[in-house]
Amino acid sequence: MSQGKVFLVGAGPGDPGLLTMRAAELIAGADLIATDALVSREIVARFPKSAQVVYVGKRASAHTLPQDQINQLLVDEAKKGKRVIRLKGGDPFVFGRGGEEAEELVAAGVAFEIVPGISSSIAGPAYAGIPVTHRAHATSVTLVTGHESAESTGIQWGALAQLEGTIVFMMGLANLPLIARKLQEHGVPGARRVAVVSHATRPEQRTVAGTLEDIEGRVAEAKIEPPALIVVGEVVRLHDTINWFESKPLFGRRVVVTRAREQASDLKRLFEESGAQVVQFPTIEIVPPESFDSLDRAVDEAWDWLIFTSTNGVSAFFERLFAKEKDVRSLSCKVAAVGDSTAAALRAHGIAPDIVPDKFMSSALIPRLPTHPIRAAIIRAQEGRDDLLDELRKRGGEVHLAVAYRTVPVTHDAGELHDIDVVTFTSASTVDNFFASGGNANGALVASIGPITSDAIRKHGRAVDVEASAATIQALHDAVVERLTR
Ligand code: SAH
Repeated sequence: MSQGKVFLVGAGPGDPGLLTMRAAELIAGADLIATDALVSREIVARFPKSAQVVYVGKRASAHTLPQDQINQLLVDEAKKGKRVIRLKGGDPFVFGRGGEEAEELVAAGVAFEIVPGISSSIAGPAYAGIPVTHRAHATSVTLVTGHESAESTGIQWGALAQLEGTIVFMMGLANLPLIARKLQEHGVPGARRVAVVSHATRPEQRTVAGTLEDIEGRVAEAKIEPPALIVVGEVVRLHDTINWFESKPLFGRRVVVTRAREQASDLKRLFEESGAQVVQFPTIEIVPPESFDSLDRAVDEAWDWLIFTSTNGVSAFFERLFAKEKDVRSLSCKVAAVGDSTAAALRAHGIAPDIVPDKFMSSALIPRLPTHPIRAAIIRAQEGRDDLLDELRKRGGEVHLAVAYRTVPVTHDAGELHDIDVVTFTSASTVDNFFASGGNANGALVASIGPITSDAIRKHGRAVDVEASAATIQALHDAVVERLTR
C-alpha cells in the first residue's frame, strides 16, 4: 500500500468563510480528521460523513490526548496509507504546536504538507474593528503567549513595553490581571488602550474595550469566556469607529429556519450576512416519489406546456431526462415557472421560461395561461395544491400531474429551540409540520413569507409578528431586519 500523507491545516478562527480553499478541499477528501477544540462547530459540521473524526482537542484544562500520542496517531494513520488532516484553530504555526508535529513527521519519515490558516491573532482584532497596525498608531505587532505561570514568566516585559506597538496576547484571559500589571510595572501608561475579543469571528463574538487600568473589572463584569485575545495598544481606539461585525443589524440574534435543508441555504446566507446565528430546524425533507411513472410520462411525451412550480421539480425532471440520455432538444413546448428561483433553475438547464408570474403561487399562473384547452404536465411535489390543475382541466385541457418528489416530515427534539429571537416560515406545510413535530415559538417573533403561510400560523393559534411584503426570501429577511431594528 502506498504511504499516506499528513496535512497540518489551519482552520482559521471560526467563521467558515475564513477557511482557505485548500483547507476546504482537503477536508472534503480526508480519510481521517484529527481536530482540536478551537475548530468551530460550523466547520466541524462540514466534515464529510466519509471521514473518520478524532477529537484530540486541547483546552487549557482538559487535554483529551497528550501531544506525543497525537504525534503517534498522525504517524500511524499516515503509514496505513490514509490522508490525515490535522486541523487546528487559526494558523498551525502560531501557538499551534504545528512546528513540533512537523518535526515528528520528519523524524518518522512521513510525507506532509503545511496549510497555513488565518490566525485569530490578526482576524480576531479585525472582526472587532481593530487593525493590528495603523500608520497613526502602531508600527509593529507582537504575538505573545499569555499562558505563563504567575511570576516565572519568560516574557520580556521590558522589551514589550518599549516597543510601543500593538501586542496581542493569546491564551491569556486567565492571566489578564498579571498582564495588565506587568506592562504597567515596566512603564506602559495605565491609560493604554486594551480590548478583549472573545469567540472572535463567531456569532457569539464579544469585545470589551478599556484601558490597562480598568480592563480587568470590565471583563469580569461582562463575564467574558475563552477563547479570547487581549489586544494592547492605541489601535484599540479604532474599535469605536470600525466595529463592523458586532454592529450588524441581526448580530447576536438567533433565527430559526424551518425550510428543508436542501432549500435553506439562500435564506441562511441572507440572515448570516446580517449577523444572525441561524438555527436550522428543517420540518420537511425532500425524498424521491414512490414511483417515477408519472414523472417519466412528463419526460417522455410531447406537451403544449411544461409547468414547473419549484426548483426541486426542475432538478428531478432533468435528472430523469438525462438518465434517459435525452436533453433539452427533446422538449419542443412552452414552459412556465412559478417563482424566480424556479425560473433561474430552468435557465441553468438552458431553458428560458415563457412565463413567470409575479407571485410565488401556482394559482398566479392561471390568468397567464391560454384560456383554450391545452395539453400540459405540471411537475411538482405529491403534496402540492390542486387549484391550477383543476382550473386547467375546467378549461377542457388534458392535464397531467407529474410527481417529481415528496416532502416528508422530519421529527426533532424541540430542545434545540432555545433562546430563539425569530422563527421564520416559508410555506403553510412547514408551519403545520413545525407545530406537529413539537416545535414552539414561545417568546420569539413569528415571521411569515406571505398570506397563505400567515393563515396557517394563525390556525395554530399564533399571531404573525412579521409578514414579508413580497413572497421572496429576500423580502422575508428584509421584513425581519426592519422589525428588529426599528
Ligand atoms: N493557532 C491559533 C492559536 C492557538 S492558541 C491561531 O492562530 O489563532 C489558542 C489561543 O488562540 C486562545 O487562547 C485564544 O487566545 C486564541 N484564539 C483562537 N481562536 C480564537 C477565537 N475565535 N477568538 C478569540 N481568541 C481565539
